[in-house]
Amino acid sequence: MVASTLGLSSPASADEFAGREQLRASSVEFRREVIEVTEGVFAAVGYSASNVILIQGEGGSVIVDTSANPVDAAAIVDAFGERLVRPVRAIIYTHNHPDHSGGAKVFAGADNPEIISHQTLVESGPEFGRGPRDGGDAFGTKLSDDLFINAGTQLEYGRVTPHTREGFLPPTRTFRGEAEAIELAGVQIQLIHTPGESPENTAVWIAGKGVLIPGDDFLKSYPNLSPIRGLKLRPPEKWVASLDKMLALEATYMIQGHMRPVLGKDEVRTALTDYRDGIKTVLDQTLAGIKDGKTADELVQEVRLSPELAKSPYLQEYYGTVAWAVRGIYADYVGWFDGNPTNLNPLSPALRGRKMLELAGGVDNMVLRAQEAIEAKDFQWGAELIDYVLAAEPENLAAKAIKAEALTALGERQINATARNYYLTTAQHLSKQSRE
Ligand SMILES: [Zn+2]
Repeated sequence: MVASTLGLSSPASADEFAGREQLRASSVEFRREVIEVTEGVFAAVGYSASNVILIQGEGGSVIVDTSANPVDAAAIVDAFGERLVRPVRAIIYTHNHPDHSGGAKVFAGADNPEIISHQTLVESGPEFGRGPRDGGDAFGTKLSDDLFINAGTQLEYGRVTPHTREGFLPPTRTFRGEAEAIELAGVQIQLIHTPGESPENTAVWIAGKGVLIPGDDFLKSYPNLSPIRGLKLRPPEKWVASLDKMLALEATYMIQGHMRPVLGKDEVRTALTDYRDGIKTVLDQTLAGIKDGKTADELVQEVRLSPELAKSPYLQEYYGTVAWAVRGIYADYVGWFDGNPTNLNPLSPALRGRKMLELAGGVDNMVLRAQEAIEAKDFQWGAELIDYVLAAEPENLAAKAIKAEALTALGERQINATARNYYLTTAQHLSKQSRE
């Protein structure tokens, strides 16, 4: 199909669902398996929202991360079977996220292990997050099964067994500063503070086995620098520095917090290098654009990965996206104002909506235009037009139904799981309201 010469339409193409199908194919990363990564080191992948790593030592074991809850943890203990040699001498948390720290009690059993983390884990509070709005949920927790694909870095996030704090055990031993060498069950381990995906993220380095456990500082997706569930920017400079530290280790195996491990020295180096460069280029381009006076809306049209990086299997936008990284960096560095004085004191959404309806010749006309846009597959424009209606008339049920249609179409064309989930959960909510 040839695009309009005016460039005003968003033409469909044969592969308009290619992103969704790529996302669907990525679920293979979450297939259930206990993988022997190297002698004495096992990763339980796909049993919970996150991976659990078992390190066999002398007269006991070490566990790194503990899954999302006691139910998942019990399934993983079963799956490890006799490979889990009791007693568990120590449990290490790479970070505090509930999908990694919710099953510790099950692994500890009656063994009374040391519980180890960086000191910042103890000091970290719960994430702030955004309140609910029209049912939007990046993890798709309540999305109907036929529409749910995955949650980006995990098959599902709390859809079957919710994350709980029931199984959490507070650290009994923490370290401050950059790194600490410890011996656990006869295994020499280095803990390295590597702020990135979380401020407390700790990499676990077992030099004797060439095994690097980077926590969530590396995942097989473009990093989620500025998650749409509503969090502060994850500082990209610190993240880049942490990846440099991990690269310097020259690991042979990398077992990150989600998805299947990365195997082989060259592959680990490629993965960490792509990841670092993928963050750094977006940071550099965004800051240069900000210095040129560009707005975030303009920058998302310009900032791109190089063609080589865009092809990297480690930078596909299943979880984070380049555009959201740009927006997060912009807001963090220069705040909310885009430099255009029109936007210093804009109209209220309701007033703008009423004025736009007047301009369009009334509500019915605007609704019709939105429907035409959707029929022409210009779904974003359809959603934007219908938002003027809903700003002026928040309870307009016909408008809600049309918005649901636009969001469904947008959701079905995403490669990003959190975008898909957010579009489709909101659509589900609006279409239910419009039927009531
Ligand atoms: Zn995680």
